[in-house]
Amino acid sequence: MINIISIILGRGKHIKAISVEEYIQLRAKLEPNINIARLRSSVQKAIRDKLEGYRCRHCRGELWAVGAVITEDHLCDECMGLEPGSEYDVEFDVVLEKVY
Ligand SMILES: [Zn+2]
Repeated sequence: MINIISIILGRGKHIKAISVEEYIQLRAKLEPNINIARLRSSVQKAIRDKLEGYRCRHCRGELWAVGAVITEDHLCDECMGLEPGSEYDVEFDVVLEKVY
C-alpha cells in the first residue's frame, strides 16, 4: 500500500492532475493481477464521495480521493501517513476541476 503511494507521489510544487484512465493504467502496470472492474468502481466511489463533500474523518481536512482509493477510507494525505513535507500530491483531474 505505502509503496504505491510513494511511487505515484513525487517532489514538486503543485498538485498534479491524473485522469481516471491514467490512474487505472498506472495501477495495472504496478499490480498486474489487480481487478480492474473493482478498481474502477473504487475510483468512482472515491471521486463521488469527494465531490459530495466527504472530509478527512480524522482531522476534517480535505479528503484525498487518490488516497481514498488506495486505503478505501476517508482520510487526507497527512492522516494517511505521508510526510507533512511532501511537496505535491496527485489528485484526479475531475476533482481538481470541481473542488479546488
Ligand atoms: Zn486528516
